[in-house]
Amino acid sequence: MLLSVVVPCMNEEDSLPMLVDRLIAATRAWASEVEIVLVDDGSTDKTWDGICAQADRHSCVRGLKLSTNRGHQVALTAGLMAAKGERIFMLDADLQDPPELLSDMMAMMDRGYDVVYGRRSERKGESWFKKMTAHGFYRLLNRLSDVPIPNDTGDFRLVSRRALDAVLSMPERSRFIRGMFAWVGFRQIGIEYIRDPRVAGETKYPMSKMIRLAFDALSSFSIKPLQIATRLAFLTLIIAALMAVYVFWSLILYNTVAGWASTVLVISFFSGIQLLTLGIIGEYLGRLYVEAKGRPLYFVDEHVGQSTDVSVRDVSKQA
Ligand code: UDP
Ligand code: MG
Repeated sequence: MLLSVVVPCMNEEDSLPMLVDRLIAATRAWASEVEIVLVDDGSTDKTWDGICAQADRHSCVRGLKLSTNRGHQVALTAGLMAAKGERIFMLDADLQDPPELLSDMMAMMDRGYDVVYGRRSERKGESWFKKMTAHGFYRLLNRLSDVPIPNDTGDFRLVSRRALDAVLSMPERSRFIRGMFAWVGFRQIGIEYIRDPRVAGETKYPMSKMIRLAFDALSSFSIKPLQIATRLAFLTLIIAALMAVYVFWSLILYNTVAGWASTVLVISFFSGIQLLTLGIIGEYLGRLYVEAKGRPLYFVDEHVGQSTDVSVRDVSKQA
């Protein structure tokens, strides 16, 4: 049985040697049949040279270099497309997710599970802001999402071939991979672990990428924001009706000219709600537009390592 390990890397030249050493140590028990797929997501440092050096040193290491930076989730997809294993293990390059958990995950899979994901019981070495936003985000997502997505899980998981094939058969462009695995079903289970600090380098998830991931997640797994827009519309209708009563009442009783303050209030309230609903609709429309264009998710620039026969595949051709 072949085991594939998939790691997306963007500017991870300093983490790479440690990553490969720890992966090889952690997969020793399955050493005869392991491939490590490293995906260079348009790095601007020497990550690709590092991947080539690792592929020279270890026959089990393969690398692919994307034509440009496409983001964590797409880089991971590219690696998953290239993986050939019966079981597929995915983790981040910065060793925040301990590869040593693999043996526990393999044991769970032997018991018949298709997806074994890591659940972070604690995050070390991350800012309180990141911890707080991540905590809030997973809970909000779960309230809104139509499928239960496990809280506090990232893309650290071991999956079976059939679960992976199910996810790869999903042609969508905005890819929130942890949600997609939750959506396909089969037998799933989580293992708690403590998330370590990065071994080297800085986080590759600035605020802008975090917000994009959050919107991708919400729009891919829920249409509730659209329903909220409708509810807001109803609410404003009711408020408008009450206002109308008040306006006529004052007109008859006091014979007044409508006050400036109430006019301004009403206008700003209604325009605020309109802009909000338009914005929500725009978010979905924009994503629909991107999906409709149906562009390939990524292009592969170069390959290294033994199995260089993987051609440029893209998800849209699978569907
Ligand atoms: N990553 C990537 N492309 C990107 C951003 C990140 O391939 O555009 C990779 C990165 O190299 C790492 C993983 O995604 O292996 C997770 O990123 P990071 O550790 O910076 O995120 P954090 O743990 O801070 O949320
Ligand atoms: Mg990290």
